[in-house]
Amino acid sequence: MKGKPVNEAYLPPSAFASPPKYTQLIAKNFGLERSSSRLPIATLTTVNREMLALIKQHRKGFVVVAFLQLVAVSCALVIPRAFGNLLGGLTRDPRHVHILLTVCIAGSALLLQTIFAYRTRVKAAILGEFILSSLRERFLERVVELPPSVVERAGSGELLSRTTTDIDHIQWAVRDAFPTITICLVEIASILIAIAFTAPVFIAVVLVGVPIVSITTKRYLNKSPQAYRVESSSYALMNSVLVESAESGRSIDALQLGQDRIERSDAALGRWLEWERYTLRLRTLWFPSIEFSFILPLAAVLLVGAHLYNSSSLTIAQITTCLLYSQMLINPLEGTLMWVDELQSGKASLSRLLGIHEVEEREIRDSDPQGHQVKGEEIRFSYKEGRNVLNGLSFLVDPGTRIAVVGPSGAGKSTLGKLLAGIQPPTQGRVTIGGSEIGYLPVEKARTHVALVTQEHHIFEGSLRENITLANPEASDEDVWNALKAVDADDWARLLSDGLMTNVGTGGARLLAPQAQQIALARLVLADPQTLILDEATSLLDQRAARHLESSLSAVLTGRTVIAIAHRLQTAHDADVIAVIEDGKISEWGSHDELMATKGAYAQLWNSWRDEN
Ligand code: ATP
Repeated sequence: MKGKPVNEAYLPPSAFASPPKYTQLIAKNFGLERSSSRLPIATLTTVNREMLALIKQHRKGFVVVAFLQLVAVSCALVIPRAFGNLLGGLTRDPRHVHILLTVCIAGSALLLQTIFAYRTRVKAAILGEFILSSLRERFLERVVELPPSVVERAGSGELLSRTTTDIDHIQWAVRDAFPTITICLVEIASILIAIAFTAPVFIAVVLVGVPIVSITTKRYLNKSPQAYRVESSSYALMNSVLVESAESGRSIDALQLGQDRIERSDAALGRWLEWERYTLRLRTLWFPSIEFSFILPLAAVLLVGAHLYNSSSLTIAQITTCLLYSQMLINPLEGTLMWVDELQSGKASLSRLLGIHEVEEREIRDSDPQGHQVKGEEIRFSYKEGRNVLNGLSFLVDPGTRIAVVGPSGAGKSTLGKLLAGIQPPTQGRVTIGGSEIGYLPVEKARTHVALVTQEHHIFEGSLRENITLANPEASDEDVWNALKAVDADDWARLLSDGLMTNVGTGGARLLAPQAQQIALARLVLADPQTLILDEATSLLDQRAARHLESSLSAVLTGRTVIAIAHRLQTAHDADVIAVIEDGKISEWGSHDELMATKGAYAQLWNSWRDEN
C-alpha cells in the first residue's frame, strides 16, 4: 500500500473474497489500459496523515468539545451513584433513606447533563462543518486546477462520482465521525474512571468483552478499508459507464453499440454489487459479535458482584452503581464502533478525494509568447502508445487568418484543436504561439492567448450576466450586450424577464441548447484572446442561423486568428485557408477556389456536401 498511489478499480478481489465472475467481464470490457487513465487514489498512509493534519488544524474545537462532554458525562455519572447509594441505604436502614433528596440530585444532574450534552452537540456539529468545509474547499481548489488533459482522460463519470458520492460519504463520515468519536471516547474514559473510583475490581470485569471486540474489530478493519475503497471505485466505474452511455445515446444507437453498452453496464453493475455484498457480509459478521461483547460485561458485573457481595467485599451501593455504569458504557462503545465503521467508508472516499492531489501537475516551461503566429512543427499525437492519431503535421498560420479545418470523421481534427488550445502538448513535435509552446504554458496564461469552444457547453448556476462575464469579470453591461449581439443572442436575451440578471441556471429560465452554445461563444468574445479555436461551436444552430452567427462573429473578430473545425462546409468556403486533415495528416492546404481547382479530397467533400444541402 505504501508508496505509489494505487488504482483499485481493477484489483483482483481474490485478496478479499472468492474471485468473482465479473472480474473477467470487466477485463474483457474495459481493458486494463483504461485503469491508467483514471484518477489516482491516495494511499492509506496519506489518508491517515491528512486526517491527523485535519485534527491538528481544528484542535481547539476538539478540546472544547471534549471539555463540554467531560462536564456532561460527569453530570450523568452522578445519577447511577445516587441510585446506588439509595439502594445501599435501603438495604442497610430504610428509615434513613432520603428518596426526595436522591430524586432532586438525579434530576439536577440530568438537567445539567442535558444542557451540557446539548452544548456539546452544537459545538461538535459546528466543528464537523468546519472540518468538512476545509476539506471541500481544498478539494474544489484542486479540481479546478487539474490539468485539462487529466480531466479529459478521467472522464466526466469519474470526476462526478468524486465530487458527489464521495463528498456525500465524507459528509457523513468526517463531519459526524470525528466529533462523535471524540465525544464517545471522552465518555468511555470518564465512565471507566468512575468505575475505578467506585470499585476498582469491576474495571477488569467490564473489560471482559474487550478481547472479543478487539479480535473481531481487528479482523474487520484488516479487510474493510480496502474493500470499501474497491467498492467506491466500482461504484465510480459503474457511474462512468452509465453516464457515458447516457451522454452518447445517439452515437450508441447510430453505431448499434447497444448490446456492447449493456454488457459493459452489466459488468460494472455486477462488480459493484459484488463488492457491496462483500462489505455487507463483513458488517454482518462484525456487528453481532460486538452486540454480544456489550451484554457480556453486564452479566459479568452481576455474577462477580453477587459473589463479592456474598463474601462482603462490596456493598450493594457499589455493585448497583457499577452495574449502571457498565450499562452506560454500551452507548458510547456502540457509537465509537459504528462511527469507526462509517469512518472506514469515509476513508475510502477520502482516499479518492485526496487522490486528486496526487495528479501530476502540468509541466510548465514558461516563456511568454512573442507575437501571435501559430506554428505546428511535425506534430504527432497518440492517446494510446504506438497508435498515432496525428502523424506529423506542420503548418504556419499568420495572425488574423481564418482557417477552416475539415476532413472525415476520426481524422484527428478535434485532437488538433485541443493541441492548438494547449490542453496538452503533442507527444512529439511542437505547437507554438508566438514562439512559445502553448501546451507547456500555465493554463491561465495560455487562455489569455488562445481559447477553445467546443460543441460541449455549460450553463452555470447564476444570472445570464454572471454566465457571460465568467470570461471577464470586469466587463460592463454594454460589453455583455455587445458580446450577445456578436453571437446573435441579443434578440432572445432582451425578451428574458429580468434581462441580464435573469437566472439561467438550475431552476431558472430554461435555455435551449443552441442558446447555451451562443452563451459559450459570447464568453469567448468577452475573453477576447488573439487566437480562437472553434470546434463545431455552432453545430447546434440550424444552418441559416449558424451562417448568420458566423458572419456577425467574424465582424467583431477582425484581426483575430480563428481556427474553425467545421462539418458545415459553408464555414470552409468563407475561410481564408482550408486545411484538409486525413489520417492524421494535412492532405490539402489552400483557399476554397485553389482546392476546388485541384479536384482533390476537399472538392469531393464540397460537392457531396452541396448535393446534400
Ligand atoms: P469527428 O469529426 O468525428 O469529431 P475528428 O476528426 O475530430 O472526428 P478526433 O476526435 O480528433 O477526430 O479523433 C481522432 C481519433 O482519436 C479517433 O480515432 C478517436 O477515436 C480517437 N480519440 C479521440 N479522443 C480520444 C480519447 N480521449 N482517447 C482515446 N482515443 C481518442
